[in-house]
Formats: sequence, C-alpha cells, structure tokens
Amino acid sequence: MKTVITIDGPAGSGKTTVSRLIAKQLHYLYLDTGAMYRAVALQASREGLGPDDKEALGKLCRSLDLGFRTEGGDNRVYLGDEDISRAIRSPEMDLLSSTLSALKEVREAMTELQRKLGRAGRVVAEGRDMGTVVFP
Ligand code: C5P
Repeated sequence: MKTVITIDGPAGSGKTTVSRLIAKQLHYLYLDTGAMYRAVALQASREGLGPDDKEALGKLCRSLDLGFRTEGGDNRVYLGDEDISRAIRSPEMDLLSSTLSALKEVREAMTELQRKLGRAGRVVAEGRDMGTVVFP
C-alpha cells in the first residue's frame, strides 16, 4: 500500500476543508467519498432504483464510471464525460445518498472501489469510515 492519508470525522467537523488543503499542498488526489455515495444516488435515481433494489444497486456501484479531476484549483466529480459536481449537491441527493449509503451491498461495492482508487497512493481519502474500515 502506498501513501494514503485518511480523514475521518462526523458531519460538520471540518473534514472537507482539511482534506482539500492537504491534497492541494501535497499534490495528492482528494478522494471525496461522500461525493462517491452522492454519485451512486444520482445514477440510482436516473435509473429509477430505490433502496429495495439492493442487488441492482450493488451492480450499479460496480459499474460506476466515476472520475475526480482538478480544474483551475477546483475539485470536480465526473460520471463518464459528464461533470456531476453540481447535480450531486441537491437536497434530494443529500437524502438519497444517506439512505443508500446505509445498505450493505452499496457499502461493500464502494469500499472495493475506494481501495482500488487508493492503490496508486498519493491520496487523501475523506469520509467517516476511511481510517477505520477502508484503509485501516
Ligand atoms: O459527506 P457527504 O454529505 O457528501 O456524504 C454523503 C452521504 O454519504 C452522507 O449521508 C454520508 O453519511 C455518506 N457517507 C458514508 N460514508 C462515507 C462518506 C459519506 O456513508 N465514507
């Protein structure tokens, strides 16, 4: 395992601010795992999937074409070629990402994806299970 810095903590504790600053200073990738769960929620809603469609949601997570890019000092989130940075910040996505992130199928698939993204190293991984579960 190469260098992965994990920033855990409850909502409102300043994880995002700290993660962004560290990633910028060190020229590391900022892995916003909350944005990953939000991207799952966005795609699920587009496909008409809800919390009961557990198997389909796991499959959706495993096929998600997610990308993080830094553009002009700004962290953008992509789904394929589409910049979804704004679309994932709606009240609907707040709620749906929270609901779907509680599902075992979704968490397992996302943990796997996060580890894959962390494998190259030079990553600041932000999220409440980063140091405890995903990158112990
Ligand atoms: O941090 P943010 O609000 O963007 O996260 C979106 C949702 O994903 C929240 O409900 C949060 O609890 C959940 N989440 C999670 N595990 C993570 C990151 C976020 O369950 N590692």
